[in-house]
Amino acid sequence: MSRKTTNGTDGVEIGLYSIGKVHDRGVTDVQTSAQSDPAREVVDICRRLIQFDTSNYGDDPRSQERDAAEYVAGLMSDVGLDPELVESAPGRTSVFARVDGEDSNESALLLHGHLDVVPANADDWTHPPFAAEVHEDNGVPMVWGRGAIDMKDMDAMILSVVRDRVRSRRRPRRPLVISFLADEEAGGLFGSHWLVEHRPDLFEGVGVAIGEVGGFSFTVDDHLRLYLIEAAEKGISWMQLTADGRAGHGSMVNHENAVTRLAEAVARIGSHEFPVTMTATVEHFLVEVRSALGLPDDTPAEAVVARLGPIAPMIGATLRHSAAPTMLEAGYKTNVIPGSATAVIDGRFLPGRRDEFLATIDGLLGPDITRSTLVDDIALEVPFEGPVVDAMVRSLLEHDPQARAVPYTLSGGTDAKAFATLGIPGYGFAPLRLPPALAFADLFHGVDERVPVDALEFGARVLDRFLDLA
Ligand SMILES: [Zn+2]
Repeated sequence: MSRKTTNGTDGVEIGLYSIGKVHDRGVTDVQTSAQSDPAREVVDICRRLIQFDTSNYGDDPRSQERDAAEYVAGLMSDVGLDPELVESAPGRTSVFARVDGEDSNESALLLHGHLDVVPANADDWTHPPFAAEVHEDNGVPMVWGRGAIDMKDMDAMILSVVRDRVRSRRRPRRPLVISFLADEEAGGLFGSHWLVEHRPDLFEGVGVAIGEVGGFSFTVDDHLRLYLIEAAEKGISWMQLTADGRAGHGSMVNHENAVTRLAEAVARIGSHEFPVTMTATVEHFLVEVRSALGLPDDTPAEAVVARLGPIAPMIGATLRHSAAPTMLEAGYKTNVIPGSATAVIDGRFLPGRRDEFLATIDGLLGPDITRSTLVDDIALEVPFEGPVVDAMVRSLLEHDPQARAVPYTLSGGTDAKAFATLGIPGYGFAPLRLPPALAFADLFHGVDERVPVDALEFGARVLDRFLDLA
């Protein structure tokens, strides 16, 4: 239960002691406090983290983060931090630690990563998904494996940076709460949502949070790289539709067929074109990107997005609500008309527009269809301004003079939604300078997930600088 913070005063001995311990754990580089390098361990830690198979199968005993959590806690205690392991259920383990800042009057910065990953089917992969091998891709050395960008990359950056700072006695400007969470990929019921409900004390004093999915680059040309920082997230509305009708023999004419009613409603929803709708973050994004690409100010949103190549699908989904039918269930015999039929819809709504979204859905349902909620989670939007944003922009620019930071909306959801319920605003900032041709958006939950070695090192250095400034 302890939540003791370290004062970093026993740095040298602990630093030297840590060498042996860390070596045992597979991190091969040796560092002394005289040679500060926040990127030194990032690749080794990322690879070791990927080797823990933390596949999340939802509420299933195979879903386990404990081994990875114990490894992470070991990396922190080795340098003198006092991590706490928190379990919401057996094996569903998160890790927390606090780090003192230069300015103890400042609110704390929460750095959060998740330890779980989505499952991977090894047969589909070029290199085994949990081996974390390093191979070249178009001449660029990359770490291959599930979690390489979602998000053991950022976990490793946080650990490499924080270990280096503690050992070299370089305090961050403001206090840190660093956390590595269970169960993000299944909605955080055993992770972030459980923690904010049962252990709000872990977040005491936190004023702002940094996590996934942002800070990655999109190359415009040799002189300009956009770095997309997440400042908003769409909300989640997963719903079940139920059609009721009159059961009967399949040979009879039946105008109250539940399957027909459901199919019509699903078709109306699935083919509905939600209109392009501006939110503050999308507006800001479009202004920046039009300017960066030299497009006229009146270039329509979809035409701007179409210019974004590999990330166009990811950004396109943030221009409007969406509602995708994903599951259907009805019937048990060819010649029996069932009395009811159900469908599941994956709905995503824009910040501030949940009621409008649901009203549209209800208008599309038609008679004899009822809607029930499976999952409902908030949308987020924070201003892209202020000292924390300035710190992100500056730390990027110092490490990439061609950088231009732009805010964007994430079409999915992250643990930031849970922290927002405690009033903690959050940004997605896991900095990666990526090769122009890498189809980054496809790597999330995709086959052959991989991260460039030098992008990991870049990210650690940017994050380290950010902690000086934020
Ligand atoms: Zn993730």
